[in-house]
Amino acid sequence: MISTEPATGKLLWKGEAGSVEQAIDTAVKAKTDWARQPVGQRIELVRRFANEVRKQAEPFAELIARETGKPLWEAKTEVEAVIGKVEISVTAYAERTGQKKLNSALQGTAALRHKPHGVMAVLGPYNFPAHLPNGHIVPALIAGNVVIFKPSEKTPAVGEFLVKCFNASGIPQGVVQCLLGGVEEGKALVEHAMVDGVLFTGSARAGIAINRKLASNPAKIVALEMGGNNPIVMLDTPKIEDAAATIIQSAFTTAGQRCTAARRLIVVDSIYDKIVPAVKQLAEKLIVGEPFADPQPFMGTVIDNQTADLLSESFVALISRGGKPVMHMKRPDEQLPFLSPSIIDATEMSDRPDIELFGPLLQVIRVNDFDAAITEANNTRYGLSASLMGGKPEDFERFWFEARAGILNWNRPTNGASSAAPFGGVGLSGNHRPAAFYAADYCAYPVASTEMDQPRASIGIGLKEG
Ligand code: NAD
Repeated sequence: MISTEPATGKLLWKGEAGSVEQAIDTAVKAKTDWARQPVGQRIELVRRFANEVRKQAEPFAELIARETGKPLWEAKTEVEAVIGKVEISVTAYAERTGQKKLNSALQGTAALRHKPHGVMAVLGPYNFPAHLPNGHIVPALIAGNVVIFKPSEKTPAVGEFLVKCFNASGIPQGVVQCLLGGVEEGKALVEHAMVDGVLFTGSARAGIAINRKLASNPAKIVALEMGGNNPIVMLDTPKIEDAAATIIQSAFTTAGQRCTAARRLIVVDSIYDKIVPAVKQLAEKLIVGEPFADPQPFMGTVIDNQTADLLSESFVALISRGGKPVMHMKRPDEQLPFLSPSIIDATEMSDRPDIELFGPLLQVIRVNDFDAAITEANNTRYGLSASLMGGKPEDFERFWFEARAGILNWNRPTNGASSAAPFGGVGLSGNHRPAAFYAADYCAYPVASTEMDQPRASIGIGLKEG
């Protein structure tokens, strides 16, 4: 396996795919000891992990920027999110899956406790190669699971670095392992009889394939965090500049490679001539550049040349179906995956494909009124995030009730979700196992017990005399 820096084309990392069987053997050997440790001990160790990442923050951020092509400032925020995940997960564990005891003199004790599943396979994406898998790994470890993490084949170096931080903090090597590999290794983990859970973040295509494969095996816990075709509905507002900035943040941060990125801007007729030129004007000012440039760019590359080719082809395909270019997608160097922000007015398109175009491409749809806007917002099989811009409180109330998504914002970007809230979507965006604050829920299962120190019972009815 090799990994190259998208911004330069230089070789960054070279390595071998790992052995699934060996990783599973090691995990199975480690799982009982880890699960039997008091939770306080496991929490202490993940806190040490946070300190280890803090110590390594600079090289870690640099590696993320080099391997993904995102700007250094953004890679630094990813490292902060990795550190922040630990305390949030400690709180979430106690709040979501803590113990409860109900005492009663006659009935003994009724207790609710949670147990770990065992061996968890974490399959990571490339866009947040540290933060997103970490969002499964930390809660899984606190709950007492052991983890085999397979990073995306596009970001193996970051995956390896993350796991080294866990191991350097004293978490045994068998408890968190990095299994390098691609789709084949991912499939083998999903299918393996000794894997008790699959925690996946990635495309709907792969997530559905995993779901299908495990449909006849209800014993495995499966959490699928998938993509979106996220809308922003734009109503009248006097704050056009701020609305334009929020739309830009939603559509083009991380070069549009966020699952929560806005893909569709649905604009009511009355404000179209104000907002679309304002968004265009601001988008034209965005600096696209290499991750370490000074001054820092707004956005860097997309992940690789193949992805840049596909996005450029998609742009042309949308135009050929009747889309009108508002801002062309430009690729200044055919050998490198830098793409400029692009905007298409898709109002007149014969049919708008409901697919996730994972890059800096925003489609604008003009509608007559709020009714039509909500219908259009829901015109997708996905349902991850959606924002309403402008309007009044009663408009947001209606939007909140009628728009279908796991994240519904008002005058805020579609992306940048808080780790302190659950994170997940409906439709093709997930399988109702939200991550972030609710990750605790899929990392442990509840066990109800009733307990007495001695058996104390008699048959009160239906006994023969004597
Ligand atoms: P991907 O689906 O191509 O790959 C994700 C991971 O799954 C990789 O490790 C890959 O090797 C593995 N994989 C792929 N096919 C598999 C299969 N059949 N069986 C087992 N494993 C398999 O995703 P990507 O391109 O790396 O990431 C981008 C996608 O991730 C976008 O669709 C984006 O919306 C989504 N995403 C979702 C969230 C979320 O939390 N909802 C967050 C970030 C990214």
